[in-house]
Amino acid sequence: MPPLDEKLEPVLDDVLRRNAGEDLFHQAVREVLGSLGAVIAKHPDYAEAALIERLCEPERQIIFRVPWVDDTGQVQINRGFRVEFNSALGPYKGGLRFHPSVTLGTVKFLGFEQVFKNALTGMPIGGGKGGSDFNPRGRSDAEVMRFCQSFMTELYRHVGEYTDVPAGDIGVGEREIGYLFGQYKRITNRYESGVLTGKGLTWGGSQVRKEATGYGAVYFTEEMLHTRGESFDGKRIVVSGSGNVSIYTIEKAQQLGGRVIACSDSDGFVLEETGIDLALLKEIKERRRGRILHYAEARPSTAAYFSGGRIWDVACDIAMPSATQNELTGRDARELVKNGVIAVGEGANMPCTPEAVNVFMEAGVLFGPGKAANAGGVATSALEMQQNASRDSWTFERTEASLAEIMRSIHNRCAATADEYGAPGNYVLGANVAGFVRVADAMRALGVV
Ligand code: GLU
Repeated sequence: MPPLDEKLEPVLDDVLRRNAGEDLFHQAVREVLGSLGAVIAKHPDYAEAALIERLCEPERQIIFRVPWVDDTGQVQINRGFRVEFNSALGPYKGGLRFHPSVTLGTVKFLGFEQVFKNALTGMPIGGGKGGSDFNPRGRSDAEVMRFCQSFMTELYRHVGEYTDVPAGDIGVGEREIGYLFGQYKRITNRYESGVLTGKGLTWGGSQVRKEATGYGAVYFTEEMLHTRGESFDGKRIVVSGSGNVSIYTIEKAQQLGGRVIACSDSDGFVLEETGIDLALLKEIKERRRGRILHYAEARPSTAAYFSGGRIWDVACDIAMPSATQNELTGRDARELVKNGVIAVGEGANMPCTPEAVNVFMEAGVLFGPGKAANAGGVATSALEMQQNASRDSWTFERTEASLAEIMRSIHNRCAATADEYGAPGNYVLGANVAGFVRVADAMRALGVV
């Protein structure tokens, strides 16, 4: 990571002091500030009006109790969060994460990333994020519904199509968005489609939203590969995770002629040299809500299962970390480089540690940071909002063409910004600076608010 500009040191110190113990948030801020020295050297006015300090402080942070009754009649208590980070460009926009590891610091890190990501899409969306420490694993459908209803019974007063528009993230998919939307509609007596995105196709959702993050990550990575005359065709690809992002990363990579040989969950990974069987993976993960172990058990002659193994030890040309934050370490990155990796596209949010990012950059590996590479999900959410506002619904082809165009333009904006700042091919700098400039210009125009 580049050393921090001395003017930015007090900004980081303040963030550390004010958000004690929130390591993921510190990491995300440090990473962005590492790129901003170049901007304030070129345009010192950005350091004025405390724009950077204001960007690091969320506009509003909401924490609430989520009480619900489980199937045994026991009362359960979880904690709910919504961090409304920045609304200079549009209503707060970003997903909800339901996972036992979720704390205020997790949500702040994700919300901070979201501000820059959403700015990079060029669309009218601010940044926010939310979630809960609720663990959906092993919970019945009825329990998930009661939890979602309780969560929305508090959240409804803070969200709205012009205010804050949540969507999914880890642990929140179409089922959860359905229960949340149903409760919002009941409490407010409004069929306000644009209050949530990631909805089902029969009740206001958009084509391609489900596929968008994975497809977009592949499109972005493909654009990076094109700069070196390469493509997905015939490449060995490793995709970590096996949730929504991973499944549709695998689908698009396969459509482009790539061979995806491994994917994973938090228990282990599966290696299948002949290529992952996507129809089976979807059946197990999307319909049965099963595990990667079950996938491997269903493919005894071709698939090997590694319980607790390191997926990044598998040699590949393209790595797409699509599981969770800090899943790919410096050690993993060195192994991937040793095995000849040429491109890394982050499908998850901040999956590579700062040390891993350094290893890739120093080795000249094409590296697409999450806030650019995985922006296709939220961009398609913005397309969903657009369709909801005009009471329209577009075809799959039209929506996918828009997504592809948006990903190309994000790639080109990052690449052009990196060139402009004398760091050609540095997509980290390009994404951070291009995202920052768009938000900062809007904040400046709106005054000290
Ligand atoms: N959770 C996704 C992300 O990390 C999507 C958010 C959205 O669609 O609002 O960008």
